[in-house]
Amino acid sequence: MERDPERMVQLLVGLPDVNVLSVDDGRELIEIHVECRRARPGCPKCGVLAHLKDQRVVTLVDLPCFGRATKLAWHKRRWRCAEADCANGSWTEGDDRIAAPRLALTDRAGRWVTLEVGKFGRSVNEVAEVLGCDWHTVNDAVLAYGAALVDHPDRFGDVWALGLDEVLFVREGPYRRQHFSTSIVDVGRGQLLDVVPGRSGAGPKAWLELQGAEWLGAVGVAALDLAGSYRAVFDATVPNATQVADPFHVVKLANEKLDECRRRVQNETLGHRGRKTDPLYRCRRLLTMADERLQEHGRTRLVGLLRAGDPKGEVATAWHAKEAVRELYGHNDSELALEYVDRLADDMVDPVQPLEVRSLGRTLGRWRLQIAAWHTFHVSNGPTEAMNNMIKRVKRTAFGFTNFANYRIRSLLYAGKPDWSLIGAVTPR
Ligand SMILES: [Zn+2]
Repeated sequence: MERDPERMVQLLVGLPDVNVLSVDDGRELIEIHVECRRARPGCPKCGVLAHLKDQRVVTLVDLPCFGRATKLAWHKRRWRCAEADCANGSWTEGDDRIAAPRLALTDRAGRWVTLEVGKFGRSVNEVAEVLGCDWHTVNDAVLAYGAALVDHPDRFGDVWALGLDEVLFVREGPYRRQHFSTSIVDVGRGQLLDVVPGRSGAGPKAWLELQGAEWLGAVGVAALDLAGSYRAVFDATVPNATQVADPFHVVKLANEKLDECRRRVQNETLGHRGRKTDPLYRCRRLLTMADERLQEHGRTRLVGLLRAGDPKGEVATAWHAKEAVRELYGHNDSELALEYVDRLADDMVDPVQPLEVRSLGRTLGRWRLQIAAWHTFHVSNGPTEAMNNMIKRVKRTAFGFTNFANYRIRSLLYAGKPDWSLIGAVTPR
């Protein structure tokens, strides 16, 4: 038990080798004035004992004290070398245990905000409000401490199942131009490995090459959406890995083709885009719904609406094509998978089929091996999708990122499984 008033205050403030000079009660905010308790230093250059030149007060945002926003006013001493011939001049004392240079937060506050924003996905604004400071102060700290965590060499090791997926990163400018990024994911462990700008192959290819031949050699399976650019990346960097087309994207494509078909037939039969009284427009949701989720009533409605709006049965054909693609994933027979894909693709490219179905068939044909490979390996960008949802959540709490470095670190802190036990030890960048 501590009874000495001075020691009690020091204990509460909890900083090492610090004297508490005064406490300023500003109602909204409490300001604690401190100085380092340290003997007169020697000149770092010549070793001669320094002379005190002057002092300046640096005010730092600290953790809240008993529920009140708190600032730490650090009376930093400036020293100058006593040796007349020494070129060292003067310097200001520092102590990384109190605060990292250049950051406007104390070290403990910097680590805390990184945890809150990075691990728990709280918004920077929310955390800034708790600390009674502005957005930039918190964000700078998250980037500085966060970079040390996400770029830690042990964050990930060998990866057996690798996935690439595109994510919309931000809409920018007067035309809301879309900027994409590519997520590089360990789809086996569900860990976001990194995020690179763009959705072309260049970014992921450079990143993968940087990992080295040994790392690439350990990749056994490579999951991707139906994007030729990512396929080329895998062909070049992990030629021995089995490529697996992500089921989610295959089914999504079938649904898109069905939708295209519906809109075309709508236009051809009625000469205008869908209106809410048009039968095809009214059944658009029923069409993309999974067959088994259609209740008897929904099914009857769908059949009726198609009879009214789809004279040549084209939309119905596209609907059956979509369901056939879904069925592909309903069985688990890896022997028959390729045969099934081939038969499906063959049927679909038949000239009697609606053009959207033929287009779907051609895509299935181009990706036949990747689609069938799923039945052997069962990896998918499913975890990647989950990852992307997390990134979307991060983006939502940040109201969209405009700065890529910012977006990368925040996404990796949240979905990249950094070792949070290191948060107390890492050196901010
Ligand atoms: Zn000196």
